[in-house]
Amino acid sequence: MLEMLGEFVRLESPSDDPDATRRMGAYAVSALTRAAASFLAGAETDLIPAEDRGAASRGPHRRVRIPGAESGARPLLLLGHLDTVWRNGTLEELPWRVEDGIARGPGVYDMKAGLVQTIWALRALDRRGLRPRRPITVLWNTDEEVGSGTSATVIAEEAQRSAACLVMEPSLPGGAAKTRRRGVGVLEVRVEGRAAHAGLEPERGISAIAELARIVLAAEALSAPERGLTVNVGLIRGGTRSNVIPAQATATVDVRMDDPADGEALIASLRKLSASHPEARVTWTGGANRPPFVRTSEVAALYWRARRIAAELDWDLGEGGAGGGSDGNIAAAAGTPVLDGLGPEGDGAHARHEHVLVGDLPRRAALLAALLTEL
Ligand SMILES: [Zn+2]
Repeated sequence: MLEMLGEFVRLESPSDDPDATRRMGAYAVSALTRAAASFLAGAETDLIPAEDRGAASRGPHRRVRIPGAESGARPLLLLGHLDTVWRNGTLEELPWRVEDGIARGPGVYDMKAGLVQTIWALRALDRRGLRPRRPITVLWNTDEEVGSGTSATVIAEEAQRSAACLVMEPSLPGGAAKTRRRGVGVLEVRVEGRAAHAGLEPERGISAIAELARIVLAAEALSAPERGLTVNVGLIRGGTRSNVIPAQATATVDVRMDDPADGEALIASLRKLSASHPEARVTWTGGANRPPFVRTSEVAALYWRARRIAAELDWDLGEGGAGGGSDGNIAAAAGTPVLDGLGPEGDGAHARHEHVLVGDLPRRAALLAALLTEL
């Protein structure tokens, strides 16, 4: 497993490099095919083009449909992503290395270890000649780290036809699975004012920046952390030069929510924020991007099953919530029970201290293999 993990980490695959994520996808699928050849007999392997806005900038997604023992049973969906947040060349500063039971390198925890674990779980079924009742769909996308714009539809479709979705994203620090995640929305607000010379005739101008500044404060005032709602204006742009009343300004707003209805209400309130000057134009675009993944009773049941299997493997699988969204949110919104964070224990997603605990890799693969067999 470690050798494969090293190969995967050394294949850098930033979301915005389509050739790199294409290579990573081809490599991972061929590793899967080699590791579990007889289990994959009769499987359908598809390359799903990443079409949509901003299109050509993403590599193709990969889907492998593996037949189950019982025809007509609803499949189990195994989700993972091939992309990482790390730009090409990161390996030179953060090389792949294994020391004292800890493996490091860009994307090792988020989430190349989860891909390796998926492959080794299926390999275990292959070696033991086990054929789960349900078909298994493996879906690996290339744009998870940039919001899954070109893969959300296929994830939702696959989730909808599946009996359950297991997300191989990293576990929480400490190893717990994720049974809920906050929802995420991204909006952009654009203000159009009117340019004018700041010295000669400032009164003829309408400052888009001043209007935007009021909107930013009003937007942040809609945060209600006690109800699980937060608003962050993370990016603003505007104006052309210091001596011109700015005609344009835009801001990008990140919204987090625990409850879908609260989130929708918050987004509706944001969209109502307008300018104080009657001639300034305010346009809002965007909206909910990953709805909240709520811990339903079905999610809890899935977790308890995984926890019991982990106990048989002599370890205590905890559970918790994550503030960040993942493709688990998209699957959960399709009404499918989701168990997320089944990837190996470690820490430092998106950070330089990113690592996984090597000793956790085999038991996680065993947990996944047993879950697939039981479900
Ligand atoms: Zn991830």
